[in-house]
Amino acid sequence: MPKNLSLEQVIASTSTGVVITDPHQPDNPILYANLAFTQITGYDVAEVVGKNCRFLSGVDTDPGTLQLLREAIAQQQSITCTLLNYRRDGSCFWNEITVDPVFEDGKLLYFVAMQRDVTTRQQSIDLKLMEERLLYEALYDSLTGLPNRILLMERLRQAVQAAQQGEDTLFATLFIDLDRFKMINDSLGHSVGDRLLVDIANRLSGCLCPKDTLARLGGDEFVVLLEDLSNRESVTRVADRIQYALTLPFSVEGHEVFTAASIGIALSTTGYACPEDLLRDADIAMYCAKAQGRARYEIFQPKMHTRAVTLLQLETDLRRAIERQELQLYYQPIISLRTRQAIGFEALIRWQHPTRGMVSPSEFIPIAEETGLIVPIGDWVLRQACQQMQTWRQMFADRPPLMVNVNVSGKQFGSHLTEQVSQILRDTGLDPHQLKLEITETLLMENAEYAVNGLTQLQKLGIQLAIDDFGTGYSSLSYLHRLPIDTLKIDRSFISRLDTDAEQLTIVRTIIMLAWNLGMDVVAEGVETSKQLAQLYALRCEYAQGYFFSKPLDAQSAEQLIRSQQLAEL
Ligand code: C2E
Ligand code: MG
Ligand code: MG
Repeated sequence: MPKNLSLEQVIASTSTGVVITDPHQPDNPILYANLAFTQITGYDVAEVVGKNCRFLSGVDTDPGTLQLLREAIAQQQSITCTLLNYRRDGSCFWNEITVDPVFEDGKLLYFVAMQRDVTTRQQSIDLKLMEERLLYEALYDSLTGLPNRILLMERLRQAVQAAQQGEDTLFATLFIDLDRFKMINDSLGHSVGDRLLVDIANRLSGCLCPKDTLARLGGDEFVVLLEDLSNRESVTRVADRIQYALTLPFSVEGHEVFTAASIGIALSTTGYACPEDLLRDADIAMYCAKAQGRARYEIFQPKMHTRAVTLLQLETDLRRAIERQELQLYYQPIISLRTRQAIGFEALIRWQHPTRGMVSPSEFIPIAEETGLIVPIGDWVLRQACQQMQTWRQMFADRPPLMVNVNVSGKQFGSHLTEQVSQILRDTGLDPHQLKLEITETLLMENAEYAVNGLTQLQKLGIQLAIDDFGTGYSSLSYLHRLPIDTLKIDRSFISRLDTDAEQLTIVRTIIMLAWNLGMDVVAEGVETSKQLAQLYALRCEYAQGYFFSKPLDAQSAEQLIRSQQLAEL
């Protein structure tokens, strides 16, 4: 140390804040603070002497770091840490503090605490962390940690570009959509659904090489980009592997869950100029896979594109169909085989398309279900059918009331159907006993957990329930008796073969017996010939419906039928 410079002068003139505290007095008060300390904190020396340093801390000073600081002091050890502190004017700053104990002959004398305002440095660290965080969030899916759509598009763009620059590589995009995921989500809850998605993401990763990209687009949609492929077979091998991996059950929060995936594949051999087209074609192929019965894969072919455009057009038109009053209900009589009289009608929707003419419900109901349009359409059907029935009830008040059967799709089943039905009954004034809802067997099995509750609630409204197209799904028969079902409708495919196939007779007989045992009545659908009718008589089937009696009729013709029946009764 130079002779003309005292230690005190050094401490007084350094830009580091220095504080000396006395550990021998209660609460370790400040004995000394230098000029730099007053400049950093804004406090005068006189204000701080006698106080514990904690007056610099505030509510958001990290308690963990404070605790470390206290422990080091208690154990008479050195420590360096960075704390959020407050100046006299209330503004905050990042204070890098180094506390050292000063010993003499092994005995603690004082603590010296040096302080530096490191706000600028700290802020740049914060910014960098934040930047990394934001970048991560922008490019990765928060649930699964997989790349998201943006990162996927970037990788697709690179692949397309490489191919355009003449690199002779084969690559492929696999669009994976889980079958029935929504049903799992709705019946077991979102947290199970989320867990399942994470497990599925892990299983999918297990089917791929590290260089492949697996992305989640959101919901239950995943996309795989495979690059540097040797041939087409290596793509289908991956698709097979994925489908096999997903057939094994998942165990999520105590539930054993089964799932499967439909996969659409777009190959680079089709020749792509932009990544969006690649993804679109894989998506179209995926829809084709779903349409062909799910749990399978399809490789994109240009002819699929035309079909997709047609579907899209149909969807757009369907959206306008309600407002433009293009929808209409037809009524097909349901006949009692004992009296040969109609006991009611099944309401069947028709779409009078402005340019395409009459479009069959088998064509547009699936689109309406896929797009959610079935909810407003279903509401319209139910309201219209109930209203019509109430009109006829009033018109033909002196004869026994007729039933109206209304078909209900899966999407409607999940969304407040009970409230909707009870509202419509109230609005139209129809007696609930005159309404029967037809629910397909597949729908019941797919919503097994929900079905018992949902149907019981519906039954409480006083309406009746029928299982439609019975025999085509995979009903567990033991499950059937738990459902409050009034009627089984035997699918047309069994009736149509009654003429030719003796085995069918046995099946139909078994269904009729089953229904009786469960206390349900039976309607045979699609009766077309007198021979079929004779067989049904022999089997003592009670009700039938089909072209043999009548095709579906518009409201006016149905009304005539009721009138003629009334005359016959007289
Ligand atoms: P579904 O409920 O099983 O209706 C019976 C279908 O069989 C009707 O076809 C009917 O016209 C047809 N059919 C009746 N008797 C005979 C027959 O003897 N021979 C033949 N070959 N066919 C017969 P449609 O009207 O084309 O309806 C097809 C399906 O579309 C319906 O099958 C039902 O699942 C659905 N659907 C119709 N209307 C609605 C609706 O308002 N809402 C919902 N969700 N689905 C509907
Ligand atoms: Mg039906
Ligand atoms: Mg049917």
